[in-house]
Formats: sequence, structure tokens, C-alpha cells
Amino acid sequence: MAKGIAGTPASPGIVDGQVHLLRWEVPDVRHRIIPDEAIPGEIKRFHAGLAQARERLHHVRARAEKNAGPEEAAIFDVQLSILEDGELLRQVEELITQNLGAEKAFDLVLFEWRQQFASHARPLLRERVGDLIDVHIRVLSILLGLPDHDPVDLPKGSNRILVTHDLTPSLTVQLDREAIIGIATDAGTRTSHVAILARSLGLPAVVGLRDATEQLTGNEHVILDGTSGILIVDPTPSQIKTYRERRAIEALEDKELQALSVADSVTLDGHWVTLRANVDLPEEAGFAARSGAEGVGLMRTEFLVVGRATMPDEEEQYRAYRHVVEAFGGRPVVIRTFDVGGDKLPIGSYQTDPNPFLGWRAIRMCLDEPELFKTQLRALLRAAMHGDVRIMFPLIITLDEVLQAKHLLMEAATELDVRGVPYRHDLPLGIMVETPAAALSVHTLVDDVSFLSIGTNDLVQYTLAVDRGNANLASRFTPLHPAVLTLIKRIVDVGAAHRLEVAVCGEMASQPLMAFALIGLGVRCLSVAGRAVPLVKRIVRGVSAAVAAEAANAALESRTAREAEGELRRRLMTAFGDAPFLRDGLPSFVEGNIFEGSGGLNTSSAHE
Ligand code: PEP
Ligand code: MG
Repeated sequence: MAKGIAGTPASPGIVDGQVHLLRWEVPDVRHRIIPDEAIPGEIKRFHAGLAQARERLHHVRARAEKNAGPEEAAIFDVQLSILEDGELLRQVEELITQNLGAEKAFDLVLFEWRQQFASHARPLLRERVGDLIDVHIRVLSILLGLPDHDPVDLPKGSNRILVTHDLTPSLTVQLDREAIIGIATDAGTRTSHVAILARSLGLPAVVGLRDATEQLTGNEHVILDGTSGILIVDPTPSQIKTYRERRAIEALEDKELQALSVADSVTLDGHWVTLRANVDLPEEAGFAARSGAEGVGLMRTEFLVVGRATMPDEEEQYRAYRHVVEAFGGRPVVIRTFDVGGDKLPIGSYQTDPNPFLGWRAIRMCLDEPELFKTQLRALLRAAMHGDVRIMFPLIITLDEVLQAKHLLMEAATELDVRGVPYRHDLPLGIMVETPAAALSVHTLVDDVSFLSIGTNDLVQYTLAVDRGNANLASRFTPLHPAVLTLIKRIVDVGAAHRLEVAVCGEMASQPLMAFALIGLGVRCLSVAGRAVPLVKRIVRGVSAAVAAEAANAALESRTAREAEGELRRRLMTAFGDAPFLRDGLPSFVEGNIFEGSGGLNTSSAHE
């Protein structure tokens, strides 16, 4: 009997193979009392264990640098510094001198430290708990003479799908890509480190599976669908067939990409729809550029902050932005200023928000931390020398925020003038419209910006009061809810009246059915995941804007999201028949499967 476990799509692609269940867990340690005369020897043994752990970490760091780059590798410096922390070593030695075996002494101190860090008010220190756990496991394993955990020592070509509770960075970067073809974790979100790393390694991944490691015993055959966020255990032959077909379609799409990349993105009745790409990591820029995207509609800059102990300086940021801008030649690259807070990892040194999505995030934080913000703005102004950079501010709700942000941009420019550093003056400035407040008052914002971009991930979340990261609420995260459609329509209409470009850069734009709805609502610029560019282009080229508008009107008049979906699907099927890609594109939503019972894959319980 096949069983489906729904999680969060973290890195796209479909693979099937055998489970490799990895338990990266703190081993049980016996309480061992040692005699006085054994104390010096035990302290020596402890230090030898630390030295071995350090050596191992240096090795891990070197591999990380090769696999994921120097910035990623820097996260291991934290673990190395823990191993050298004078206070930690002192506490362990003190317990050993009180006749406790080295491993138990280390175990007790690490548990204590983890507890203290976990409840610390500073998010940055709470984030260090993961590093402490890694160090805890690594050193104890060495002291207990357990086998080396972290190298996933599987024969090349064994097509294994790694299933683990939470893939620590030190494990992720060691994955042998010739043996491991996919990753599934109980924990994690779209923006957690494992997700970002998996994407940059090009490994399909599903995270947030909650108890997959409990449900599996290892060695089961599974299908991992990183595009939809599902793990299907013991799939039936027909499911395997379906998924292999889907994989073939994806492969075909990749091939067709070349052909479609040069095709015009124009509807049957002659309406152009600009397709841009969302770029989360600079390394994705090359792929996105080759996909035929006419620029970048959303470059998230949080990758510069996630998992980092310090903020990136102006130079590092400038290099990262320039890399993306150059990958796109003279095409527009919309770079969004830091959107940290909410579900994005905080940068640390700030108090925790009791309700982070309603808290101190995005533009709010940037305006309150002008030096941090201006460093980014200076880097952007400089990067703009190399192409068509456009700056976008996230989570704008009031005109004051726009004006303040513009004022700080002017200050940043003046600072560059003083230093004599060249930069571009005339950058278009835009805002993300991603709250009901901004949507309803967008007429108050339009005079001071050059473009609008609708962030549907947050717009849906805030409109429907549904946490976008909560897997339990996935089926309630319905972008076709009448309230959401009405707000999008309003933004588009106000934008059109003011002759402003209105783009959609939320995940909604990457879905065939939704893209069709958005075109029907009058959107003429979609920014989608790199992989989705050809898929969405196929929709654009296969429909007429007039039919899309008729479908969107019917959706707007529907009383439920399901009814709206029916209206859209019916018309889209008239254009494309029952083409599999219409279903396949469906579940690649932000967090979990949104379209339970949509006619696509029902992931909430994919039993067969
Ligand atoms: C959105 O909210 O739709 C969006 C594109 O931004 P993010 O997903 O980064 O919050
Ligand atoms: Mg957003």
C-alpha cells in the first residue's frame, strides 16, 4: 500500500530510489566514574578527541568550500570556534576532575549550553543551537569510538534518497551527489539552510515532513517529488510509471527550454507578457538567464544573511549583485532589499518577535537600521553600473515608508559621491504589494514609485490569515480565494490607470493555472521560478488574453476558490486539452500542497 507524506517543496525535481535513513543523533552516554589517578589521562583523551573533531571539521569545511563556495563554508567556523571555546573546555575539564568520564562530562556541559542558547533572547545565539548539536554529536561519537557519521558512505550510482530528521549543514555539504539523488527531512522550511543548500547543489528536496523518519525504517523504495513536496513510500507500479513520465516531461521541458527560450512570450491574440525569473541565489542566475527569462523580476537578497554570523559588507554585496546583473546582460534585474524576519532567518542581535510575520521584518527593519540598509543601497547603486538594476522595497504599507526609503537611498548616493565611487543615479524604484493594506491603498503609493510587484505568497498569507509556513494549514492557503483575486484585480487596475508596470513575483505566477488567471486579471509581467519559465511561456503562447480575461472574470465572481479553479481549468483545458503539464505544475506551491483535491496530486494522503 503506497503512502504519501506531504511536506514542503524545497528544491525541484523528481527522483525515485531507496531510502537511506540517517540518524544524526546525540548518542546515549553512560555515567562513568573514574578514579583520581585516571583524571590526567582522561583530560588528555578529551583533548585528543577535540583535536580529531577539529581535523574532521577542517576537512568538512574544505569540502563545503569546493561544493558550495567560501561563504557557505564559513558556517563551519562557528563549530570550530565552539571546539576552541575556553569556557566550554574549562567546564568539561572541571567535571572530569570531579571524577566524571570525559564523554559524560562533555555530554552534560553541551546539554547545558544548548539549553541556555535555545532560550536566549538573541535569535543569532538561538541559531547557534544547531552548531552546538553538531559539535555534541561529533565529539561524543569520537570519544565513544562510534563510526564516523557524517560521510554518507554509499557506493556511487546507488541512487539513494537521504531521509533524516534535519540535515545539518555539515552533513549537507558532504553529500556525495553520485550516490545521493534526493533529500527528505522531518524539519525545515523553504528558507531553511538545507533548502537553500539543496537548491544550490541541484538536489531535489522535500523538507518539513514532520515524522518521516518515524514512519520509515530505511531501505524502502520511495518517490521524492521536490517540485510538489511529497514523499511517496512504497509506490505502486502505476505511481512509479506516472512519476517517471512526469520526470520525463520535466526532462523534455528542459530540452524544450532551449527552443522556447528564444520564442516570443505573446498570447494568441497578440498581448505580450514579460516573463522574468526569481533568483534566490546568485548561482541560479546563469540557469535563469538561459531559460529565456527577460530579466530578473525578484532577486531575494536574504541568501546574504541566512545562516551568517555577520552582515555582509558593501563589497561582498556589490560582487553578488554584479554577478547576477552581468548574467542578464542589459536585461532588467529587480533586486529586493533585505526581507529578513518573518520566515526568513533573522540576522541576530535583535529581540525576538512574539509574532514574527506581524513583526519587525523587511522594510521595517531596514528603516530602523539605516546603516545596514544604506550599505545594501550603496552596493546596489554600484552594481547598477553594470546593467539595468531596479530596486524593490518589500512589505511596503505606507507612503512614509516609501519616502523614508528614498531618502536613505539619496543619503547612500551622497556617501558614494564623497568617496568618489562611481554609481548609477537613475534607478527605477518599486515596491512589493503584499498586504491587504497596501493593495487597498495602492493609489496612495503609485505617484512615488516606478513599478509595483505583487508578492502573492505574503498577500495570500495576510489576506486569509493563513501562516504560509504551517503545513497543517496548507489546504487553506488558497490563492484563488475571492478576496485575494479581488485585491490583485484592484492593484492591477490602479497600476494600469497610472501607467505603472504591475508584476507578480509570488509563487502563484509559476503555476500554469494561476498564470492563466493572472494574465486574465490583466497582469503583463510575471516573475517565476527559473524552471517554470518555459512552462509559463507555453501558457502565454497557448491562450488568448481575451479568453483568459473571461476566465478571470468568472473566477472573480465565484464564491469559492474551488469554484474559481473550476472556471479557470475548464477554459484552460479547452486550449490545451488534458495536457499533463497543467496538472504537473499545480502543486509547486510555496509551502506544502495547496490544491488538495484539485485534480492534481492530492498530497494530503496520497494512498492508493
Ligand atoms: C511573496 O511574498 O510573494 C514574495 C515573492 O516574497 P517572499 O516569498 O520572499 O516573501
Ligand atoms: Mg513576501
